[in-house]
Amino acid sequence: MILRAGMLYDGTLAEPRKNVDVVIDGGRVTEIRNAQAGTKPDFAAACITPGLVNAHVHMVGSGEANTMTAIALMSQNQAMLAAVTNAAKTLRAGVTTVRDLGSHLGIGQALRDAIDAGTIPGPRMRAAGRALCMTGGHGWFIGRQVDGPWDARKAVREELSAGADCIKMIATGGVLTKGAVPGNAQLLPEELEAAISEAHRHGLRVGAHAIGTEGIKNALRAGIDSIEHGHMLDDEALELFKARDVYLVPTLAAPTCILEHIHDGGQPAFVVQKAEQVNEAMLRNIRRAYEAGVKIAGGSDAGTPFNDHDNYAREVELMHQLLGMTPQQALHAATSTAAELIGLHRGVLAPGEPADAVLFARDIHEDIRALREPQVVIKAGTCVSPS
Ligand SMILES: [Zn+2]
Repeated sequence: MILRAGMLYDGTLAEPRKNVDVVIDGGRVTEIRNAQAGTKPDFAAACITPGLVNAHVHMVGSGEANTMTAIALMSQNQAMLAAVTNAAKTLRAGVTTVRDLGSHLGIGQALRDAIDAGTIPGPRMRAAGRALCMTGGHGWFIGRQVDGPWDARKAVREELSAGADCIKMIATGGVLTKGAVPGNAQLLPEELEAAISEAHRHGLRVGAHAIGTEGIKNALRAGIDSIEHGHMLDDEALELFKARDVYLVPTLAAPTCILEHIHDGGQPAFVVQKAEQVNEAMLRNIRRAYEAGVKIAGGSDAGTPFNDHDNYAREVELMHQLLGMTPQQALHAATSTAAELIGLHRGVLAPGEPADAVLFARDIHEDIRALREPQVVIKAGTCVSPS
């Protein structure tokens, strides 16, 4: 297969290339060369990027106004059907790799395996299984409640045996759970340390949901690999991020989507109120983190209220608008940096890499909203949309 690009963004920060052919064989890129007049491409587009990579999704969530209640009330069958539908949607939107950071009933792992086997359409996946939270903590009704360091170790072992390939921990309260205060620390430093050391013994990376300042620093000091949200980070946290080379996944779309839909109805008042608080901290702090040189990996928290799985383009736009990234830098965060955190591949279009690519009718540098309308999606060298 040959893809002809008017402009090729390969996922790195190198100068984009004009008029090139991406040659694909056996599911991988074999060569990138100047477009050859005598060769007819299979697909051609004004702009080609790597498949997008979303480092923070919840396949069991479908953007319902009251997501947590909807998930908690679903039967296992309903949750699986939702996840299958969301996986297909994700792929059609040009997202070819995701990390599912919290699902119950083994749904994330089963979904991943079915996609890998080619049974259903969807992105390449890593799945955390159940998030580890304190008893009654954020997301407790779909999480694994842990109390004490030994129980935290045991919970990692349980998720490992249930097929998890990364671990998610809840270090602070959150927006969507009634009674959980986002600014308050939840799992204790010794619980975080125990679980992280157990996960690392088995080669699993750990991401922490952390919004409040103390919880962010607890997780950073405990050896976490990525901070999810991170909205109330302070100067000391910034130093820890850099000293320990930790990724920040800012999930800018999560509070943004909640606040944009206040008047649609259906969202509990406590969710809106907490989202306002968190959004204010996010606008104040995340750009500082980016400017200080913290590694930003794209992740949208897809599945949360009005934050649908086919809307990852919005997260990329927000990184451009709110963090001051150029479109290419935002794409870099949403491809190679996110891929580096997930660890399945490099998230770039280069010889030897998986042939995951998206074709767009317009150059993203002229208008980043071009990302909203993928013309063709290629995964592992196969056209998966339009199918
Ligand atoms: Zn999340």
